Amino acid sequence: MTKPDNTVWLGAPAFPVAARAALADGQLRSNLRHATTTIRDKRLAVTGELDDWERLRDAGAALKRRTLRHLDSYLLQLEESVTRAGGVVHWAADADEANRIVTGLVRAAGAGEVVKVKSMATQEIGLNEALAEAGIAAYETDLAELIVQLGHDRPSHILVPAIHRNRSEIRDIFEREMGSWGRAAPAGLTDDPAALAEAARLHLREKFLRAKVAVSGANFAIAENGTVGVVESEGNGRMCLTLPRTLITVMGIEKVLPAWSDLEVFLQLLPRSSTGERMNPYTSTWTGVTPGDGPQDFHLVLLDNGRTDTLADTVGRQALACIRCSACLNVCPVYERTGGHAYGSVYPGPIGAVLTPQLVGVGGDTNGAAASLPFASTLCGACYEACPVKIDIPRVLVHLRARVVESKRARRRTPTAEALAMRAAGMVLAEPARLRAAQRAARIGGRLVARRGRIGALPLPAPLNGWSKTRDLPQPPAETFRDWWQRTGNTAQENET
Ligand code: SF4
Repeated sequence: MTKPDNTVWLGAPAFPVAARAALADGQLRSNLRHATTTIRDKRLAVTGELDDWERLRDAGAALKRRTLRHLDSYLLQLEESVTRAGGVVHWAADADEANRIVTGLVRAAGAGEVVKVKSMATQEIGLNEALAEAGIAAYETDLAELIVQLGHDRPSHILVPAIHRNRSEIRDIFEREMGSWGRAAPAGLTDDPAALAEAARLHLREKFLRAKVAVSGANFAIAENGTVGVVESEGNGRMCLTLPRTLITVMGIEKVLPAWSDLEVFLQLLPRSSTGERMNPYTSTWTGVTPGDGPQDFHLVLLDNGRTDTLADTVGRQALACIRCSACLNVCPVYERTGGHAYGSVYPGPIGAVLTPQLVGVGGDTNGAAASLPFASTLCGACYEACPVKIDIPRVLVHLRARVVESKRARRRTPTAEALAMRAAGMVLAEPARLRAAQRAARIGGRLVARRGRIGALPLPAPLNGWSKTRDLPQPPAETFRDWWQRTGNTAQENET
């Protein structure tokens, strides 16, 4: 597996290249279609049950926006509350610093391995790889994360990281890999879901019982009392949060909420939007440490890693309101066809397309993967409709597209073919006579190259043929709107009235 370069995987190609490979994989597309359609239908059913669903979304959006506006004071309040409750707060400016802190804490606890609760923040910083370099084994305990880890794979979805795998693929991975990570899969393992779950349970149990240190993420942390929380479906997270002596939580700074009562809103929005359930099966909360009960050392690592820069952008900052429900992935026509790997980042789908380029910068990765992401969308708006905290993803995508264009312009001495084409289009559109001449030329040219009313790939050299190669255009009409208007005057309007 390639070592992740923080948020964007090192060596990840730009989205169009990666998407082409994914689109050619029929099995992948079928797995994705089945999974996203199922989750989509469940979500629609349970959100439709609530008369006040739209008001809940408004409340969630307002709470998140207000918190982001005053993030600095809520974070200081959180630090004070956690410390008062017996926890230790660490501040990490970037992935390297966060990894150094966690590695140091694991060593100080005298542990050579950790069990992990599913966490996007630790994936973002490449924690497992950093721990491995320090000789510390990190074991994922979420079932889907376990499948990804055993398969030497990468997550493809925020909530269901192994969404791209079907049951027989999972069985093969368990049979092949479990033995080299701990307890082997039982002989004669079938692809029955209960048998697969039992194999995972037996494999994980020995890890839960011997682990001295657990590492988790956090769905939220409450500034007023220092309570940190994780929601999950399997209960494996709760085993990690209660059994080991030391608990280390890595949390993006945007996850803070002002008050305990704010959970009323988010604990309704999150399960309905993510798994299509009325409430999530396990909600674990902890406040500092309690003598004789649960972990006796608690460390909270507050991670920036590009978030402060994102916060400075008044349009783009709304991406930080994300509660990682993944509803936008499940409704996105682009994600449904390409899957998460094509996004080249731990944050796939529509939210990844706006978050990743902001966290790493649109010129921040060598292959242009991050800069390609704002264009990985049809701008259909389905993500905005689905988002429980009303992040206007299409607006942020358009905003980031402009930033990508500006960034490219600033780095080049000569304009790109696209920039020249846009400049030419601007000149044509600015002058009615030019537009009329261009329309006439398009009408004549279109007649020559169209086949059955459509214009396909134009016989132009690269890169000029890039646009037409992937699109069919309708043949320009024999008469333009202007010509029609001039010919008919306002008689058409009069005839209608
Ligand atoms: S952007 Fe909205 S819909 Fe997408 S994962 Fe975040 S909260 Fe969920």
